[in-house]
Amino acid sequence: MSPAGRRAATPARAKARAGRETRARPRAARESAEARRARAGELLGRLEREYPEAKCALEHADPLELVVATILSAQCTDARVNQVTPALFRRCPTAADYAAIPTPELEALIQSTGFFRNKARSLQGLGQALVERHGGRVPATMDELTALPGVGRKTANVVLGNAFGINEGVVVDTHVGRLAKRLGLTREDDPVKVERDLMPLFPREKWALLAHLLIFHGRAICKAPRPRCADCALADLCPSAEP
Ligand code: SF4
Repeated sequence: MSPAGRRAATPARAKARAGRETRARPRAARESAEARRARAGELLGRLEREYPEAKCALEHADPLELVVATILSAQCTDARVNQVTPALFRRCPTAADYAAIPTPELEALIQSTGFFRNKARSLQGLGQALVERHGGRVPATMDELTALPGVGRKTANVVLGNAFGINEGVVVDTHVGRLAKRLGLTREDDPVKVERDLMPLFPREKWALLAHLLIFHGRAICKAPRPRCADCALADLCPSAEP
């Protein structure tokens, strides 16, 4: 090819190519909605067989503990949160305790989870809002939960699905988003759009479990930097499987 016919490797083109390479292969894009739903069903069955122990990794005994733990889990590992919460839950067994605890004491209790000043503010605001609007109890609707300080749709989905058994949506964290894309179940990056793509593919009663299964698989096999496709039970169903 002559130099004139060769496509120049501009930064924009290189970026576009990089984007294409991280997306699912075209096979997923051409898949019919019906075929995708069937494949999703098979994926779910295999994941359930692979990870029968899959469940919420944040230790909690009630909805208040779970919403607090989920707020603390932002930019932090679940294992780290689980190290911090026993002392916190002993010190603050009720919403009123989060409203009343002195800021320095709360910050010291949660410091190791990172972003502790913001998280402390959220927990204090959460406690106040729960006392003022909900009699100290954690509400069980998406609208009421997402109106609370520090609670977005992801946290609300965690609480609804795991503390109340209400499947209102699918929790999309970094693992779920990455796997949904690699598995060709979405082409989106935005968690809300990923969730919107996932919900019609899986039975509603499985939505909370689905997130746990994908998180377990993401941690064990389909890791962020380098997926272990050779060890993956989903490989024949995955458009991103590497030979
Ligand atoms: S085949 Fe590879 S990319 Fe696909 S889910 Fe398994 S580990 Fe991830």
